[in-house]
Amino acid sequence: MIRINEHYQKLQNSYLFAEINQRIQAFQQQHPERELIRLGIGDVTQPLPDACVQAMHKAVDELAESQTFRGYGPEQGYDFLRQAIAEHDFQARGANINADDIFVSDGAKCDTGNIQELFAQDLRLAIPDPVYPVYVDTNVMAGRTGASQAGRYQGLVYLECTAENNYIPALPSEPVDLIYLCFPNNPTGASITREQLRLWVDYALEQQALILFDAAYEAFIQDEDVPHSIYEIEGAEKVAIEFRSFSKTAGFTGVRCAYTVVPKACTAYTAAGVAVSVRDLWMRRHTTKFNGVSYPVQRAAEAVYSPDGKAQVAELIEYYLKNAAYIRQAFQRMGFACSGGDNSPYIWIEVKQDAWAFFDFLLNNAGVICTPGAGFGRCGEQHIRISAFNNFEKVQQAMQRIEAALLHHSPL
Ligand code: PLP
Repeated sequence: MIRINEHYQKLQNSYLFAEINQRIQAFQQQHPERELIRLGIGDVTQPLPDACVQAMHKAVDELAESQTFRGYGPEQGYDFLRQAIAEHDFQARGANINADDIFVSDGAKCDTGNIQELFAQDLRLAIPDPVYPVYVDTNVMAGRTGASQAGRYQGLVYLECTAENNYIPALPSEPVDLIYLCFPNNPTGASITREQLRLWVDYALEQQALILFDAAYEAFIQDEDVPHSIYEIEGAEKVAIEFRSFSKTAGFTGVRCAYTVVPKACTAYTAAGVAVSVRDLWMRRHTTKFNGVSYPVQRAAEAVYSPDGKAQVAELIEYYLKNAAYIRQAFQRMGFACSGGDNSPYIWIEVKQDAWAFFDFLLNNAGVICTPGAGFGRCGEQHIRISAFNNFEKVQQAMQRIEAALLHHSPL
């Protein structure tokens, strides 16, 4: 008899965006004439930077000629891309990261989901609340948690991110071995300062713990005191893995390219206390289970670091940040407390009522789709996330509609 992995049955049934889609479909069936503005799911709307498009075209042409054709590439990524990443994203910021610490992949979702395979089953895990659901769900699938009770899995240490701590979690009060952090954060939009991040690195060094640092939104950082990489913090190369993505940076959500940094000094331990190189484990996993990102896509990613690519990416980021500032100002004007939107494309809004009820209110009365914070964890209750990924005109229209809806209808 074929049997299932029963840990899958612990997963909470409705995945956040599936539930949102169901509600949208029901609304559209009742009101087919209403035009909806989507500020929910965090997908980019602007086309690829021209430098990337040109590089991809050129690479496809190379594949069309027998002299320049390429088959399988190195699983960890081509040297040209790994070199460009190491130089521009790390060495230029004083972080001692080299090309062979970089593992190119088809997404930070896969990497943040797969990385847990390297670690022991009975780890003490610290996960933020609210959270990008992939970190939690992949550990549930792997059997590292108990059942879910009142929206929380037993056995996890939840790092609460609330208005009281400005959505930056405090160090855990009980010892933990593996810590997920994400800054600038999805969904809260919060960013962490160098001093705040140093506390976590020092904690990990002291506890022989490991930090999984998701920096998928690094490109949105504007403030000088916000680090672009955890490796800007002394000692982090021993205790941190960093995840980056071209998805939000350069509009690659459909193209698919990301990378994970596992420095040579990064260490984990056997049950007997013997130190093992995490980089060697990830290399083994990556080369066994992954066959590389396509050549044209890696050439397109390399073009992000060309002078034209850098200028075009900066323009894209500026475009979305202008949307974000507009959204944040509009909600503040309407009397809501907001976080994010300055170093991040997400604005996290305290709505002081049930998040799904406010979602329904915006859908029904303004035709605007947001993401209910409750879908990201218990601390997301009474919050919504608004994404700045849309056209500026649509963002303006959405804010006007919301202001009018709040004026004419009580959301309670
Ligand atoms: N990490 C965070 C925090 C995200 O919000 C996302 C996408 O929304 C990802 C990772 C996934 O990125 P990718 O498109 O590279 O898989």
